[in-house]
Amino acid sequence: MRASINVNDTPRLSQNPLVGCLRWMTVTFVLACFCSIPPAAAAAAGGGPQVVIVEFHGLKNGIIADNLDRLPTFRQLIKGASDKGSYIHLPRVLTTIPAASVPACTAMYTGRHPRHTGVVSTIWFDRTTREIRTMIDYFQDRINRLVAGRGIKTIFEHVARAGGTSLSAMLMMDRGADWSLKSGMFFWGNASTLGFLKNGRYFPDPWYIDHKTVSAFLTGHLFFHTHSINGRLQASGALPDLMVVQLLGTDIRSHFPEKSFRRADADMDTIQRHYAATVLDPEMKRMLDFFQKKGCYDQLIFILLSQQGFIKIRRHLSDSLVSEALAGRFRMSDASKVPEWAEAVVMPGACTKEVYLKNRRTGRWLDPPRLLTDIKPAVDALLDEPRITSALKAMVVRQYPGERHEGIDESGCWWRLDLESYPASQRTEDDFLTFLEPFEKKAADFALGDAIVRGLNQQYSRETTPDIKLVNQKGIYFERDTFKYGHHGSYYPEDLQVSFWIAGPGLQSVLPGRHVIEEQASTLDLIPMTAFLLGFPAPGGLDGRNPLAVLQD
Ligand SMILES: [Zn+2]
Repeated sequence: MRASINVNDTPRLSQNPLVGCLRWMTVTFVLACFCSIPPAAAAAAGGGPQVVIVEFHGLKNGIIADNLDRLPTFRQLIKGASDKGSYIHLPRVLTTIPAASVPACTAMYTGRHPRHTGVVSTIWFDRTTREIRTMIDYFQDRINRLVAGRGIKTIFEHVARAGGTSLSAMLMMDRGADWSLKSGMFFWGNASTLGFLKNGRYFPDPWYIDHKTVSAFLTGHLFFHTHSINGRLQASGALPDLMVVQLLGTDIRSHFPEKSFRRADADMDTIQRHYAATVLDPEMKRMLDFFQKKGCYDQLIFILLSQQGFIKIRRHLSDSLVSEALAGRFRMSDASKVPEWAEAVVMPGACTKEVYLKNRRTGRWLDPPRLLTDIKPAVDALLDEPRITSALKAMVVRQYPGERHEGIDESGCWWRLDLESYPASQRTEDDFLTFLEPFEKKAADFALGDAIVRGLNQQYSRETTPDIKLVNQKGIYFERDTFKYGHHGSYYPEDLQVSFWIAGPGLQSVLPGRHVIEEQASTLDLIPMTAFLLGFPAPGGLDGRNPLAVLQD
C-alpha cells in the first residue's frame, strides 16, 4: 500500500546559532571569488530542436510515473497542456555499477563503463601507485582531468565534435561544455547553514541547492550571467543545442530527510514523492515558465533522468568492522598513500565493502594475491565475525585469468563463495577451492543477477580491482554516519534501476506519438539517444546504444 504525500509536512526552523551562520557566510563569500573560470565562448547554435537534460540526482524509479496526478508541471511537460503531447518513457533503465553518484554520472555522461573512465567507485585503491583515490575536490576538476587523460570524451565534447554547442549547470564533469556553471563554497556554505537552521545539523538544505541551481541555470550567478540560458539568449539570441542541469536535492533529502519523516519512519517512496511534489515540480515550473516567456519552449526536448535510485537504511554496520576483523592477520593501513609494509587495504563502505590484498610473497600489489595463503585467511577472518556474516548476502572473490595457477580454473572475472557450504565445512584448502564458484553461475538469487555480473565485470581495471567484495543484504550499510537515513550503491533494483522520460513540444518533429520502451536500457545510452534527438551522427566507440532507433519507421 502506498502512503500519501503530506504536503503540509514542511520543515520547522530550530534554534539557530547566528554567529556560526554569519561566519560561514563570510568565509564562503570570500572563497566564492575563486570559483570557476569561464571558458571561451563558442559559436551560436543551429535551428533544430534543442535538448535539455534535467538530472534528478538519486530519484527512484517510478516517482514521476506513479505520481503524475500530484505533479502538475511534470504532467504538463510529459502529456502536453491539452493532453496531446508526444513522449517516450523508458521505465527500465539500468545504471552502471556501482550505483553511486560520481562513478555513475561519469559513466552516464561519457557513455563508457567505469573500467574505461577510470572513475571506478566513489573511493578506490590504485594498486600501481598505492594511493587511495577519490574524485571529490574543491575545484571539481579531477574527473575532467582523469577522463581526458584516458582519451574519454564527454557528452559535451561529442556535441562539439558534431558542430553543436552546449551548456552545463552544476555538473562536476563539464569538459567540453561551451558554457559551464559550477557550484562553489558560497553555494554549499549557505546551503549547509540553512540546513543547520532547519534541521540542527550541518548538511546542505536540498531545497536551497535545487532552487539556486535552477536560478543559476536560467539567469546565472555571481559573475557568470553569460553562462546561463538568459545570458546565451542575450548574447546570441539562440539556445545551446544541449543544456544539462543537475539537481542534487533529491539525493540529499533522501540521505537526510526532515525530522517529521524520521519520526514517522517513512519509506523512501514517501520521502521522494513529497520532495518531488513540494520542490521538484515547482522548480520545473520555473524552468518551463522561463522558456515559455522567452519564446523558445516549443523547440525543446526534455530528457528527465536520474543516475541511481535509493534505499532506506534498515541497519547500520560499523564501518571499521572489516578492518578490525582483518587486523589480527594482516598489517593494515588507512593512509591515503599506503605504506610499503601494509598488507591489506579496506575501503570506506556502503552496501558493498572492498578489500584489497597484497601478494605477501612477492611484496607487490600488482601481483595477484595467492588464493590459499593471502585470500583464504582474509575470507576466514571475515567469516569469523558474526556481525559481518549476519549482514552478508554474498561474498565475491576476484579472478586473475592467466596470472595465478593454484589448481582452480580462472577464466572469468569473479567467483562467488558458497556462504552456506563453506562456513559449515572444515574450511580446508580443498573446501575453499571447491566452494568458489563462477559468479555468473550463482547470480540468480539477485533479482538483476545477470546485469550485476555484467556490471561488475565492467567496473574495475586491472590496477584498481579489489580482491574481496562483501555484498550486504538489502538495507544494511557499512556507514560512519549513523544519522544517515537512506543510501544507494547496492545491487538491488531500487538502486540499480531508474527510469527516463523524453518529452516536450520539440519531440513532435523527431518522434511523434507516445511510446513506452519496455526493453531494458542503460544510463550508458544517454549520449547515443541525445545525438539521435539532436540529429547528430552517433558517436563511435561507446558502450551504450540508441534504444530510440526501434521507434523509427
Ligand atoms: Zn548520495
